[in-house]
Amino acid sequence: MFGEIEGTGFEVLEPEFSGCIIGHARVERLWTGARWSEGPAWFAAGRYLLWSDIPNNRILRWDETDGRVSTFRQPSNNANGHTVDRQGRLVSCEHLTRRVTRTEHDGSVTVIADNWQGKRLNSPNDVVVKSDGSVWFTDPSYGILMDYEGDRAEPEIGACHVYRVAPDGQVSAIATDYVKPNGLAFSPGESLLYIADTGVTHLPGGPKHIRRHRVNPDDTLSGGEVFAECTNGLFDGFRLDRDGRIWTSAADGVHCYAPDGRMIGKILIPELVANVCFGGAKLNRLFICGTTSLYAVYLNVNGVSSV
Ligand code: MG
Repeated sequence: MFGEIEGTGFEVLEPEFSGCIIGHARVERLWTGARWSEGPAWFAAGRYLLWSDIPNNRILRWDETDGRVSTFRQPSNNANGHTVDRQGRLVSCEHLTRRVTRTEHDGSVTVIADNWQGKRLNSPNDVVVKSDGSVWFTDPSYGILMDYEGDRAEPEIGACHVYRVAPDGQVSAIATDYVKPNGLAFSPGESLLYIADTGVTHLPGGPKHIRRHRVNPDDTLSGGEVFAECTNGLFDGFRLDRDGRIWTSAADGVHCYAPDGRMIGKILIPELVANVCFGGAKLNRLFICGTTSLYAVYLNVNGVSSV
């Protein structure tokens, strides 16, 4: 388990990346056997990680106490991205049911959003919760384009937006100029919101970048300039560390960007990476969803708490 896995390692592109990694740390493959791994979320109190295997219609659970993997929920409504809210509850994007849900402490499931202006959402993809309790999610059409990760269906909205659900349940579109909005995450302190656009998957020459927005006091967005262009594959999902670096998925592993937009290093993974999250008691372990497998590596950085 702790030996070197072929195809893994660190690539230092800027000297400062050396300070973000532990040179002798190894990428571990914690589990394999999924068709498409996505949406990891760390539950600190229970010391476990949940993540999606979207085509197999299940949410898996890796337990830090004994290293075992079990099925947390099946069917999962082809769940994709997850996060944990400030009360420690699971918040999930579901392709099949085209909604965002919250799993309550008693295990019941509450619908947070399933429509905008009376029209069904496409297929919510990734989600974050702000400290004020508002829920922010992206709604590309990947889950309704074919039957593999949901049910093929006609879009009702006719566009792919980013939405904010206010604590009172009101759903508003907060970014409407994306082709396929995908991963999203706040900066430490929540003054910035980063959103990936993976529109190149269905639009030749389309976007494959992360954009950066300023979050205004009323939770509207301004700015939205391109922060980074993906050099290999797509930025699907990403998380930030406490110093504002972005750790994002790509075809060859995880790419790390400094807050000024420079790529400073990579964690090489032998499978296409879809998403990552920080976990462990100190949030210094990066969990990596790479197609069929769950990987993890200890870093010399700490994730932003509660996301
Ligand atoms: Mg995604």
